[in-house]
Amino acid sequence: MRVLLVEDEPDLSRQIKKALIDSGYVVDCAGDGEEGHFLGDTEPYDVIILDLGLPIMDGVSVLEKWRGAGHIFPVLILTARDTWSEKVAGLDAGADDYLTKPFKMEELLARVRALIRRSSGLATSDISCGPVTLNTKNSKVTVDGQAIKLTALEYKLLSYLMHHRDEIISRTGLTEHIYDQDFDRDSNTIEVFINRIRKKLGVNIIQTKRGLGYRLADPDEGE
Ligand code: CA
Repeated sequence: MRVLLVEDEPDLSRQIKKALIDSGYVVDCAGDGEEGHFLGDTEPYDVIILDLGLPIMDGVSVLEKWRGAGHIFPVLILTARDTWSEKVAGLDAGADDYLTKPFKMEELLARVRALIRRSSGLATSDISCGPVTLNTKNSKVTVDGQAIKLTALEYKLLSYLMHHRDEIISRTGLTEHIYDQDFDRDSNTIEVFINRIRKKLGVNIIQTKRGLGYRLADPDEGE
């Protein structure tokens, strides 16, 4: 899952970025509204965290421009304390949730998880496909209740597929959601990682759709 963080306070930005990376997200950062708007407009993000008080272009304007252009990604806004009117303006501009500064990092992570869950149409933090269950809260994967050890990258791949169960995801699409913008991406390596995941899970829930990409399927349900 790939997150865009638009926050102009360097210390806070660093702390949030670290917490997100430690939780298995891929993170791009922007320090002003203009850069933030550009990234959100051009890169595919699974969730965006947007501070409202930003240099060059304020957060509400950034959000209005995104929504005006038809972007439906979930947005969590960060607001200063005691500014209820800012929250209202942000929510009216298309924010899905807000968090008032200062906040606990755990709460931010829980809200990010909830937003991603909701945008994938999921109601709980456990996602299952056949015997495989992925717990988004503690990043653990089990097969028939047995814990499976995946690398960070393997987890990111499987998590993205599990959050998009009924879709065919192209290699390029997967690549865009598991690496940040600075990474030298090579979508050819995706097949290698997919095969490793298949081997570790021991059940084939990841179908290859030739020329199109991958799709998750419960082996017991057939096509
Ligand atoms: Ca700010």
